[in-house]
Amino acid sequence: MEAIAHREKPYRLAALGSNGARTRVPVRDVEIGGPHFTVIAGPCSAETPAQIETIAGRVLSAGARLFRAGVYKPRTSPYSFQGLGDDGLAMLDRVAGQTMPIVCEALDADQMRLAAEHADVIQVGARNMHNTSLLLAAARCGRPVLLKRGFAATLEELLLAAEYVLLHGNPNVVLCERGIRTFDDSTRNTADLAGVARLRQLTHLPILVDPSHATGRADLVAPVALAALAAGADGLLVEVHNDPARSWSDPEQALSCDDFDDLMSELIVRAPLSGRSVRPAAVARAECLERHRDTIDRMDAAVLALLSERVAMARVVGQIKTGLGLPFLDREREQHVLDHVAQLTCSLSVGARQQIFRTVMDQSLSAEELLAGGILNG
Ligand code: PEP
Ligand code: MN
Repeated sequence: MEAIAHREKPYRLAALGSNGARTRVPVRDVEIGGPHFTVIAGPCSAETPAQIETIAGRVLSAGARLFRAGVYKPRTSPYSFQGLGDDGLAMLDRVAGQTMPIVCEALDADQMRLAAEHADVIQVGARNMHNTSLLLAAARCGRPVLLKRGFAATLEELLLAAEYVLLHGNPNVVLCERGIRTFDDSTRNTADLAGVARLRQLTHLPILVDPSHATGRADLVAPVALAALAAGADGLLVEVHNDPARSWSDPEQALSCDDFDDLMSELIVRAPLSGRSVRPAAVARAECLERHRDTIDRMDAAVLALLSERVAMARVVGQIKTGLGLPFLDREREQHVLDHVAQLTCSLSVGARQQIFRTVMDQSLSAEELLAGGILNG
């Protein structure tokens, strides 16, 4: 029954199979999808070599694994900056391409051919999601494709657009939710995070969220980025600028490099609770050492917060035991906890884990006993 339902989907190749296997898209030494939470960051538009060099250096040190910058800009107004064009592409490749893989949007088949020579991932933007001839060019471009959802496209339309690329020979498609147009204009677009959770049920393709275009406001990027992680996204596409107010395009939504550092640190700490990991490249610079140590301090605080909640739960269990007339000490349960932590996937040795959890269980038992002594109540 389940298998028939899968086969009946109009997007046969993009549909999640009954075995639940998910696609990971390789880009140089990075993989989008799987256990990774991959962050792509950079300016809306490439402007100057110095701007590209500065931002690429900062986002790489913070933990982004791919660099984004537009050179062919699909601007709403013909009077707005349209991007540096072909020259920008060569500049991007020369200045940032040595340090990290590059994502760049192409608006037509000629641009796509040239972009594929310089960039590692080709973006098909929201305005072009329905452009079938561009999708066919993307299928043949020889690079992974980052396909953004159109502002008024249903999830089925997005998946059918992906199906064009898959059907015509390119298996490396990454989807991106970037906000849809709704009646509410309090944000630039409406971030459809329920759509992200739904997409995970429908497709095996990796799914990114672009909190920058989705909200249009720098102060909303971090909360939507964290919500995207919780909703099951495989990563983010974030606009970052070394001088946001002077950005040549989309200045309102660009994060400063410092704010991006802070967001990455928060993502590194929270990703494991969503079953993911954000692994920064090891950049040998003194400021990186300092920043990553700050992140480790935040991780230690998070570990303690979780342990403290774990002990608080033991107190609730202690109250229940009292109500049921059961003793606090339960050797069988203790053994179960030790066996359980030994079986988990974890880089710590089994001995170290069991030592930690013996201590945690001692603390939990004391909390239960204090409760029984009436010292703690509720
Ligand atoms: C972009 O990512 O630079 C862009 C133009 O986004 P979208 O196609 O989502 O508007
Ligand atoms: Mn932009």
